[in-house]
Amino acid sequence: MAEKSKINQILSKFENDETRLMDILLSINVMQGYISQKDMQDISVLLGISMAQVQETATFYHFISTTPRGKYNIYLDNSITAVMKGRAEVKEAFEQFCGTTFGKVSEEGMFGLYDTSCIGMNDQEPAAIINDKVFTNLTPYRVKHLVEDMRAGKSPNDLMYEDYGNGNNADPDVKAMVNNHIRKKSIILKDDYQPFSFLKTKLKEYTPERVVKEIEASNLRGRGGAGFPTGLKWRFGRRTDGKHRVIICNADEGEPGTFKDRVLLTEYPELIFEGMVVAAFATGSDIGLLYLRYEYKYLLRFLNRKLAEMRKKHFLGKDIAGIGDFDFDIRIQLGAGAYICGEESALIESLEGKRGEPRDKPPFPVEKGYLGYPTIVNNVETLATAVKILHHGAEWYAGFGTKDSLGTKLLSISGDCRYPGIYEVEWGTTIREILAMSGAADVQAIQVGGPSGMIIGMKDINNMDNSKLMKWYKPSGMMIAEKFFNRKLSYSDLPTGGSIMIFNNSRDLLGEVVMNFMDFFIEESCGSCSTCRNMPLIMKNKLQKILDGNGVSQDIYDLLNWGKVLKASRCGLGQTAGNPILSSIFHFRHLYEQRIQSLTQFDSGFDLEKATERAGKFVHKKPVFHHF
Ligand code: SF4
Repeated sequence: MAEKSKINQILSKFENDETRLMDILLSINVMQGYISQKDMQDISVLLGISMAQVQETATFYHFISTTPRGKYNIYLDNSITAVMKGRAEVKEAFEQFCGTTFGKVSEEGMFGLYDTSCIGMNDQEPAAIINDKVFTNLTPYRVKHLVEDMRAGKSPNDLMYEDYGNGNNADPDVKAMVNNHIRKKSIILKDDYQPFSFLKTKLKEYTPERVVKEIEASNLRGRGGAGFPTGLKWRFGRRTDGKHRVIICNADEGEPGTFKDRVLLTEYPELIFEGMVVAAFATGSDIGLLYLRYEYKYLLRFLNRKLAEMRKKHFLGKDIAGIGDFDFDIRIQLGAGAYICGEESALIESLEGKRGEPRDKPPFPVEKGYLGYPTIVNNVETLATAVKILHHGAEWYAGFGTKDSLGTKLLSISGDCRYPGIYEVEWGTTIREILAMSGAADVQAIQVGGPSGMIIGMKDINNMDNSKLMKWYKPSGMMIAEKFFNRKLSYSDLPTGGSIMIFNNSRDLLGEVVMNFMDFFIEESCGSCSTCRNMPLIMKNKLQKILDGNGVSQDIYDLLNWGKVLKASRCGLGQTAGNPILSSIFHFRHLYEQRIQSLTQFDSGFDLEKATERAGKFVHKKPVFHHF
């Protein structure tokens, strides 16, 4: 419990502004490891807001705790790539050496062990966050030494033995043992970028309308996954009246398997910030916010230094780049661990100090967003791409990619391949080419676009739309055509926000991969819609029944139908939460059919005694069975 005077100090630092509740709670959390009930009461009184308001924010995020945690808190990534790279052994080692189990704090209060969703390190798993520092490529041996050092009182900084990663990961303001793993560069990652050269030399020649037109002409589409035309979004934002307009950079990449924004933020921060300034110029915005996921907190000091340098050079502040009345500045808001905050309206709620719960739309953020102002939310990669387009022109940009998907895409490739990392490829690149460049062999399946995307297999068919594909299944579930991996990354074939995970033939696709993805959605639902709150768990249980050998053919149809129910959810998370199961039924139906008892609909595998026992546990009664 914090002294009231300390809470007062923290509140003053954030000007007693209730919309900075996230910062207030994070500050107390850092100071004492958790937020007590009394702290929440004090905050509610001092800010003049309800206790419920404080509680609902404090209890929503993974990295804010309302119960005491350890002196060292270890958050071990539980994404599928971590599992594939030896997470179980690392977890066991933490439990053995820390003397407690996951989800608990050790008796002496030294260690708190927690599972956490993807921390953006899938190219160097198993990875964990210990007191806000990232530790990668963990092994049981390394864990033993880490725990010994923590017991000896070393700080997380000292635990790293200065084995920092490459590039800016070794910067004094970063000091992270993270590697960039940039494997392939094209127009965005090319080393020809001179920071702020567009702002310095060209912006004065442009009107806001000309900037918007150039971006429209380039057909740039949002790189976060949804693919909304960026120029149109800027035009809508520009058209809407408001006392202020807001540019938000969404740096909350939380889709398991994606880590490209981590590398952009580490190596190309100027490019991203320049993109925000240009977007502000085009849309007439004066407020800039970069929402940084908590998992990348190790970059915060470094990014703030870059912003301070920009202010000194007059690329932020008043009359930017010597253009009268062009006033704009950027503040970085730290998230606190919630995948749903990648959804733009949930992100805005979080920026306002609330639970990250998606809003009903309309109104869309461009009409009514952050604090009610017209708000343009762009992804990190989108903003970086916009600067390159403005620098070289829309015509130049049209020379890359395909007719319907122009330009390049940054991919985060992980899993069973020799060279996991970041690849900048042109749209239209085939899966076959991606497998070759990343050194993948003996491939069983590829997950394109993270758990909410699509799992495709060896027998996938080139350029065939899904409705046609369904008709091609034989009763056995095998497909007739045998073309391997000729499908292309593009908005019309395989769209992706950038996550590509590869699974070889040793992997249990249903029991290991699909179950992991379903656990992710169950954990990350904000709980607002009954469909999204319940259906993923029900679907997972049904899949478990099939895996246990108790499934019948009706179960597959139930899963397909329940997946349709999920589509009624309010936001993309719920709408796609059934995709791991739907997509695997669609592309790997034979794996389901191999495990079900028969192709009849009679549920001969139902175990009445087990089911009754399970139900009895909920009402704390032991059932009595009479066998005749
Ligand atoms: Fe929340 Fe899920 Fe509904 Fe989205 S779909 S609002 S995450 S409950």
